Amino acid sequence: MSDHGFTDLGTADPQFSDPRAAEILARVFGYESFRGDQQAIVDHVIQGGDALVLMPTGGGKSLCYQVPSLVRAGTGVVISPLIALMQDQVDALTELGVRAAFLNSTQDWQDTREVERAFVAGELDLLYVAPERLLTERCQQLLARGRIALFAIDEAHCVSQWGHDFRPEYLGLSMLHEQWPNVPRIALTATATDVTRVEIAERLALNDARHYVASFDRPNIRYHIVEKQDVRRQLLQLLRQEHAGDAGIVYCLSRNKVEDTAAFLCTQGIDALPYHAGLGAAVRAQNQSRFLREDGVVMVATIAFGMGIDKPDVRFVAHIDLPKSVEGYYQETGRAGRDGLPATAWLAYGLQDVVQQRRMIDESAGDDAFRRRLGAALDAMLGLCETVSCRRQRLLQYFGQSITPCGNCDNCLNPPESWDGTVAAQKMLSAIYRLVKERGQRYGAGHLIDILRGKETPRVLEHGHGTLTVYGIGKDLSEQAWRSVLRQLLAQGLLMVDQEGYGTLALTDESRAVLKGERTLMLRREADKPVKAAATPRNKSLQPDLPRAAQSVFEALRSWRAGIARSHGVPAYVIFHDATLREIALARPDTLEDLGFVNGVGIKKLESYGESILECIAELAE
Ligand code: ADP
Ligand code: ZN
Repeated sequence: MSDHGFTDLGTADPQFSDPRAAEILARVFGYESFRGDQQAIVDHVIQGGDALVLMPTGGGKSLCYQVPSLVRAGTGVVISPLIALMQDQVDALTELGVRAAFLNSTQDWQDTREVERAFVAGELDLLYVAPERLLTERCQQLLARGRIALFAIDEAHCVSQWGHDFRPEYLGLSMLHEQWPNVPRIALTATATDVTRVEIAERLALNDARHYVASFDRPNIRYHIVEKQDVRRQLLQLLRQEHAGDAGIVYCLSRNKVEDTAAFLCTQGIDALPYHAGLGAAVRAQNQSRFLREDGVVMVATIAFGMGIDKPDVRFVAHIDLPKSVEGYYQETGRAGRDGLPATAWLAYGLQDVVQQRRMIDESAGDDAFRRRLGAALDAMLGLCETVSCRRQRLLQYFGQSITPCGNCDNCLNPPESWDGTVAAQKMLSAIYRLVKERGQRYGAGHLIDILRGKETPRVLEHGHGTLTVYGIGKDLSEQAWRSVLRQLLAQGLLMVDQEGYGTLALTDESRAVLKGERTLMLRREADKPVKAAATPRNKSLQPDLPRAAQSVFEALRSWRAGIARSHGVPAYVIFHDATLREIALARPDTLEDLGFVNGVGIKKLESYGESILECIAELAE
């Protein structure tokens, strides 16, 4: 992978590849080679260059600063907003034999003092610090007393004022450069747009940083967007038929919906937990911890949940409300399948989502430019929902990257039909025109469709709408089909939700061209197909391709790992990832030396767990 043609501003020698980096990668992390741009980034930072790294979730950002921190003299200082995850990150490094610690508000003064002492004494390879802590006088004085290998600014998009993860303290981080002009800085994010990239570089004063932009494709994630009908039933079907026993996240827009949905799933025998900013800190921490540590927990959450969660085996992310932007959608779905194994990104959206979000934008505080920006973001999201071509292509196009159709999204697997909806659109638009013109009334989608289909509802009778010329002209289409037409008209800006009346529909300037027959309109036909795509059935442990013998070794190793993780009080993946257990199961080593060759088994883990793993395998052979 390359840095996509960005001007090479660094001064480091591009040919140079530091042998110490490869040695540390193998010995400490147990990996045989770097991935993608990792090598180039690591070399650049080791030589003292600044870097701005854009890599999707699961792309391997951590190694980009961890390896240089181990090679360069001094401590790598990692700035991260994710206080709740620092303990796990430090535990994972400690398991690898790396000397790591953190400073944040959850510590008591004794712990703080000990970490500070260790830093000054040069006993730390990595130090994680919350940004608000870093900006304190005390912390600055502390840092001045030790030796710093580099600054890593994780989740760097938090500096962007337009994103929903904005943290004001991040703006203060530009001072790092002033205070420590000779210490290299590496900023990392999984956010992909050019606008954000430029904004990060500007606000963090990363003027000479080399930019590394990886491909943002996540080929193992299957995208699936469906029309919302009975969303609870649809969600349940997804969880039961495709993801029984799997860990996953269900995103909702509101706190109430989070609570209701979690409670509903629990009544259906699913181990679901709620997470939103309105819950007490202790409850949030507890739910997050259960999600990370236990198998098969479903987290029902607002977007307050998820950033930096590095649980590798999240098998699905389901949205039961429409996300506000493609960028948000990509971030949230990206939390599925970090381990590279198959995962699902599922979204149900309907007419009400469009109406509701348009209204929220109209009512939002802020100036017109701000509202236009929100509107454009929503339009792009709707475009993704209504597209008849490859979802992944559309998604990556949004980030300026192009691919051929992916073969792993609903549209590729079950190509939707499109149909000439010009006449249907004309019928609907003229019905709205009549209603607005002649009656000046407030009405919603349901009433409009009743009129088109010629239904004698109390409301139709009461208002005498049966006499309208448009009454009953749409009997040829089902109610569902009309909803689909209406949604697509809204998505394409051919209709708008009136700001005055709740949910009242109004024509736009563009509607006229359709009404006058100057424009044909191709629409997407909703597939009445079940949720399930042509997926091969999977068993719970997700290792369908392992031979039967290896499968039982894998299961044995998993329960061995569960025991260790429990006794250490850490998530299972901190001990070993599934991918590593898979490799061990396939290799079935009977010596420590052979075990050491397995990807993901570094020197420290071999020392700590080698014997015990060999025993576990040997027992199985008896
Ligand atoms: P990110 O922070 O970009 O989301 P991580 O740093 O958590 O990604 O890495 C994702 C996964 O890939 C982790 O399990 C990590 O151990 C693994 N990984 C990263 N780089 C390599 C590599 N060079 N070889 C093998 N596995 C790797
Ligand atoms: Zn596709």
